[in-house]
Amino acid sequence: MCDEPVIRHIVYTDLPASVDILGLTYSIELVDLIDDDADLLGMIFYKEQIIKIRNSLSKERKQQTLLHEILHGLNEQMGYPLGYEREGEDGIEHLVQALSGGLYQTLKPYLSFRL
Ligand SMILES: [Zn+2]
Repeated sequence: MCDEPVIRHIVYTDLPASVDILGLTYSIELVDLIDDDADLLGMIFYKEQIIKIRNSLSKERKQQTLLHEILHGLNEQMGYPLGYEREGEDGIEHLVQALSGGLYQTLKPYLSFRL
């Protein structure tokens, strides 16, 4: 995972450079590929406090994916009230996707991120 190309020093017009999730600052990185999986749109790395998002996505998809990963971060930091996440299982993916989609639809007219 460390070998993934990361686009650095970009101007973040679609996303903030970082987000605070219950006191933990996660940096946001736009990358070409995550975990060698072309289907992955984004992923949160708890220990490294990084949220990676595919750079090729539209602005809307990037923002919705960020909300999705933030919900994962909230769940982890709050002790998994939405359920545990297990490697290789869908786990809470459907719930997180439903919540992030609903939140994005509601918040979209009001979203603006600092540069
Ligand atoms: Zn997810």
